[in-house]
This record gives sequence, C-alpha cells and structure tokens, in this order.
Amino acid sequence: RDHALTLAAELRSGYLAGSWREAASTFDVTDPATGAVVASVADCDVADGLAALSAADAAAEEWRASTPAERAALLHRVDTAMRADQENLAHLITLETGKTLTEARGEVIYAADYVRWYAEEAVRVHGRSSTAPTGDFQIVTVAEPVGPCLLITPWNVPLAMVTRKLAPAIAAGCTAVVKPAELTPLVTLAFARIVEDAGAPQGVVSVITTTRADEVCAALLADERLRKVSFTGSTAVGRLLLERSGQRVLRTSMELGGNAPFVVFDDADLDLAVEQAMIAKMRMGGQSCVGANRFLVQEGIADAFAARLGERMAATRVGSGFDEDVDLGPLIDERAVAKAQRLTDDALERGAREVARAEAPEGSCYLAPVVLDQVPADAAIISEEVFAPVAAISTFSTEAEALARANDTEHGLAGFVITASLDRARRMAGRMRSGMVGINRGLVSSVAAPFGGTKQSGLGREGGPEGIAEYLDMKYVAVPAF
Ligand code: ADP
Repeated sequence: RDHALTLAAELRSGYLAGSWREAASTFDVTDPATGAVVASVADCDVADGLAALSAADAAAEEWRASTPAERAALLHRVDTAMRADQENLAHLITLETGKTLTEARGEVIYAADYVRWYAEEAVRVHGRSSTAPTGDFQIVTVAEPVGPCLLITPWNVPLAMVTRKLAPAIAAGCTAVVKPAELTPLVTLAFARIVEDAGAPQGVVSVITTTRADEVCAALLADERLRKVSFTGSTAVGRLLLERSGQRVLRTSMELGGNAPFVVFDDADLDLAVEQAMIAKMRMGGQSCVGANRFLVQEGIADAFAARLGERMAATRVGSGFDEDVDLGPLIDERAVAKAQRLTDDALERGAREVARAEAPEGSCYLAPVVLDQVPADAAIISEEVFAPVAAISTFSTEAEALARANDTEHGLAGFVITASLDRARRMAGRMRSGMVGINRGLVSSVAAPFGGTKQSGLGREGGPEGIAEYLDMKYVAVPAF
C-alpha cells in the first residue's frame, strides 16, 4: 500500500493535448478500504475538455494518414510497457478500487491483451470488392477512421475498459479523449504516461479527469469536431448520452447494465455448477456487468446447489486488497454497500432465506458475501443489478419456465446455462435474449470475442474483429468494371 501511495502522489495533473497540465482545481481520490484520501487529481472543466478535443482534432488528419504498421508498432510498445509495469499498475488499481492485488494483476494482463490484440488487428482491416449485379461496375469498400472519439469508462475495471476502447480506436486511426470514472482516475493517468512514453503523437490520446462529467461530456458531444462516443456504465447515463448523441448523429457504442441469469439444470454436474457460479458471481467482488445477478436453479438440484454455494461463499476471506491472504476486498463505495443491503433486506422481507453469510472486517465499504435462496419473483434483486457479492437463488421446474424467467428483463447482456445435455444447451443458447451466453462457463469475457448486449444493455460490440469496426466507417467507391 505504501508503494501504491507513492505512485499515486505523482499523478496530479491531467494529460491534455499531449502535455501534463495542472487544472484550476483538484478532487480527491479515496481508498475504499480505509476511506482515506490517497491522491488529488486535476478536476478538468469544460475549457479543459474542449482543449483536449482540439488536440484530438488537430492530430486527427496526421493520425489517420499514419500507416497500419505504425499504429500496430505503437500499440505493441504500449503492450510491452504495460506488462513491464504490471506491479505498479496493479497497485494503483487496488488502491483506488479496493479489489485484491491478484485480481488487479489479472486486470493489467487482460488490459494489455486488448492492446496486443488490436496491435495485431491494426494491419488486418479489410474492405471488400464485388461486381455490381448489373455487371457494369465494381463495388470497392475502404474502411476509414470515424474521427475524434470520446471514451467514457467506469470504475469497476478501470484499466481494461480504457484499453478495450482506446486500443481499437488507435488501431483504426482515430484520436481520442478518455474520460475515466471520477472514483478511479489514477490508473488511467498512469496508463497515459505509458502511452506518451511509447511515442504516441501529441493529441492522439488525452485524459480528462473530472467531477463534472455531465457538463464536460455534454460540451464535447455538442461540438462538431467530435464524431463518436463510446461509453461503459449505467443504462440511465447511456440513455442520456444516446439522446445527446442523437442531436449530432454521432456514432455510438454503449456497454450498459446487465441482469445476468445463471441457470442450473438438474442434470448439471454439481461441482462444475458451483465452481462456475463462484466465478460468475465473485469475479470483481460481484461488481461486474456480466456477473450473475439471478441464480435460477431447477428444483431437483436447488437445495444441494444452495448449500454448496453457501459453503464456498461463507469461506470467502474479506479484507484489504493489499493483503495477499484475502479473496475479496471492499466494494467501491458506501453507496454500493447500501444498495446491496437494501436489496438483501428487501428479499428477506419478501420471504427469501439466508443460506450463508461470510465474515467481513469493520469498515464502511466492506460487505460480507451472502447467499439467499427461495428468493421470490417480486423481490427487487430480481430486476435490479445488485453489483455486490450477494447470490440470489430462485427455483424453477421446467425448461420453458427457466427460459421465460431468464428473458424476463429489460436487459440482455450475458446469461449462463449449466447443463449436461447438449440439446438443452443448444436450445437455451438459441433462445436466450442476451448478447452473450456461457455454456457450462461462468466467464465469457475474452479479447477475441464480441462483448456486448441486446435490449437495454447496449449497442455495439467490444473485442474481436467486431471491436475495431466500431471505430471505422465503410466508404464505398464505385469503379468502372475491370
Ligand atoms: P456507475 O453508476 O456504475 O458509477 P455511471 O454510469 O454513473 O456508472 O458512470 C460510468 C461513467 O460515466 C463514469 O466515468 C462517470 O463519470 C460517467 N458519467 C456519469 N454521468 C455522466 C454524464 N451525465 N455524462 C457523461 N458521463 C457521465
């Protein structure tokens, strides 16, 4: 932690227009494990935001004209530097998010994997060519960068959400202004240094840290130089950004909230079901948008599943993320704890049963993992994202019922199915209304896969070849027949 504090103390300025600048005011970053202020960073205002956009706009033509190989080389240098700096980056992530160092180290590698993937994709952007049906001309397409982008990221995976957006933007030839979450600006600033040292031309990347996200982002969205916004966060904010983007017909990518069902059938292997449930529930301490929010378990296996999951959850060691013997750190802030407690109390009042509860240290942001079963359909936790280590189990009897309940949500990000039956897995995967389905797997994220949602969980995909397409416009050129 002392090492993290030393690193944090150096990250005071915003990275704007290719240089490190002090802003007129600063805001405090706190450690959720202790509530202590660990750093103060630039609180950028509208003028700072517009300065960053000016820099992105000024650099746009030159960056667009860079070769794919040059863009790939820059990203490869960033990837190498991130891996070399894994410990420092991980310490900053643990300091500002509270997640364990083990998880933070994993996030750094996952974040670097996106950079590496898009370094490789930068030189594999394809158009197509075909003969028009009339035969008298050729259809040729060329992928072009959309232009300056605003990238707004959340606090739960503060480094990987930046690279998942920024790496494809850079690979595509776009310039970008990154707006990290105000709770977790530190690792993004540390990452900006890496990008700068790797030789990114001035203005290609800026980072604006601010407590005035609404005002600053609204000014950028209203500015004609901006061409795209990519956002990861709540559905409510996503909706607002879509409305504002509509005014200027911006390209948008939206990774919004989820309400993932985790469906376990009677025929499932119990060990596998519990193992994958732990991953789907406890990754990032339950603070993941693809985390299992509702466990739907078939009657014949429900008691055994609840008991086994309860044992595992109750054994979770909760404490400071810097302590290597700890499995789970604090939640991000007191608001998150209060929400989880409200949803847990509501379920208990409506008749749910507490199967198990772990122990947690004193401290306002710590929350002991809880397993509830017999959670009724009208409990708020069934429709609201809990974003905490609270597992809510309900039972079902038939596959049709499981499917109907799994799909009974306005969200459609991820879903999980645990079954030994190939036929059942195939049917459920085909009929679940979500952007991603994990079969006998509690983890779907991969740099090579298209991550994204349907319904109110969002628009567009991140990762894989689909992820770079979000930053490209297809130009079609009609040429005379050969
Ligand atoms: P959460 O509720 O998980 O904190 P938010 O959607 O509020 O998620 O935040 C995700 C990101 O969106 C953060 O970077 C936050 O600063 C930013 N944000 C929040 N409100 C706005 C807004 N009105 N305009 C632009 N960005 C916003």
